[in-house]
Amino acid sequence: MTKRALVTGVTGQDGAYLCKRLIERGYEVHGAYRRSASSDFWRLDYLGIADQVKRVPFDLLEPSNILRAIDKVRPDEIYNLAAQSFVALSFEQPIYTTDADALGPLRILEAIRTVDPSIRFYQASTSEMFGKVQETPQKESTPFYPRSPYGVAKLYAHWITVNYRESYNLHATSGILFNHESPLRGTEFVTRKITSHLALIKHGRTAPLELGNLDAHRDWGFAGDYVEGMIQMVQADQADDFVLSTGEMHTVREFVNRAAEVAGFRLHWEGEGASEFAKDDDGKTIVQIKSEFYRPAEVDTLLGDSTKARTQLGWKPTTTFQELVEMMMTADLDRAARGILRV
Ligand code: NDP
Ligand code: GDP
Repeated sequence: MTKRALVTGVTGQDGAYLCKRLIERGYEVHGAYRRSASSDFWRLDYLGIADQVKRVPFDLLEPSNILRAIDKVRPDEIYNLAAQSFVALSFEQPIYTTDADALGPLRILEAIRTVDPSIRFYQASTSEMFGKVQETPQKESTPFYPRSPYGVAKLYAHWITVNYRESYNLHATSGILFNHESPLRGTEFVTRKITSHLALIKHGRTAPLELGNLDAHRDWGFAGDYVEGMIQMVQADQADDFVLSTGEMHTVREFVNRAAEVAGFRLHWEGEGASEFAKDDDGKTIVQIKSEFYRPAEVDTLLGDSTKARTQLGWKPTTTFQELVEMMMTADLDRAARGILRV
């Protein structure tokens, strides 16, 4: 029988890749989106699946809407990818972030209990919950220490998912995913900010790329690999918590240098800290550090140990750091060349 999935956050990066994978596996896919004057399905268009995803209006803040949406679709599986997902904004909008990212998943879990407790649930948890890391690498049993309102809200959502699994025997899984990127990543996140701005500079823009902390370390993977792990988690006999990560860590500085190379710039760094900048061979400033992009509390390093997902689910990432940077930089150079790159 055809399986039916409800994917929240369908206008986002992971929503698009996940819908594509589910369609390839023969699912009937319903994409939950929040209506706005500018609701934009460009990522589904980019992957060529816009007309294969049925659209369902949905807002994490509205319990009655969530209940009705689930009752109407009657999915076998719900993937909750919707969230205010940008750490920096969560410092500016902590209450909204908490409402959407902590209480939103609780509203969905309550609706599942009410409508049909056999619906399987996936919660998009995050390595940001490890924050000020208590051990390296981080795995499922590593103690959490979130460093932002986003991380704290996601930690609530993680524990309420575990709690509903244990209290009501729901098949509720928490996927603790390390940063994952793609040409469909939002341009506010550092990787895509770098590739999109460098591409525009390559095509004539004069303003430099402005960044904050270059020394943050992240375990960056490719989003297309990670959505496959989400599906595998939901198919497991027992719901559980799983880390997905590459097991390799790189700095923001390495990402900039590598992306610049792909774009054809050679960067020469000068200065220190908030006064640092990089020029190209012609003396043009390409990168400028700005203190406004530093965060009130930083997550300095993240490195994941995904042994559990690899051994129990057979999951593994297929894209290296180099390949990821090249894929993103090439896609943005192509968009810039065609005049369709917006930041
Ligand atoms: P995006 O920011 O690309 O997508 C977020 C999605 O959530 C968008 O579709 C957005 O809709 C939707 N959304 C936001 N607020 C609401 C709301 N109030 N009601 C309904 N929908 C809402 O994130 P990603 O695709 O990168 O990430 C998917 C999930 O995984 C998120 O929960 C994120 O926190 C989590 N995660 C992501 C990681 C990553 O590296 N990408 C790492 C670990 C976890 P709209 O288009 O209207 O804004
Ligand atoms: P996060 O890990 O979810 O916060 O993903 P981001 O891509 O937003 O940030 C990754 C790291 O890059 C963090 O440590 C940021 O402090 C650092 N960073 C440095 N400069 C910037 C910038 O200009 N924008 C963003 N978003 N992050 C930056």
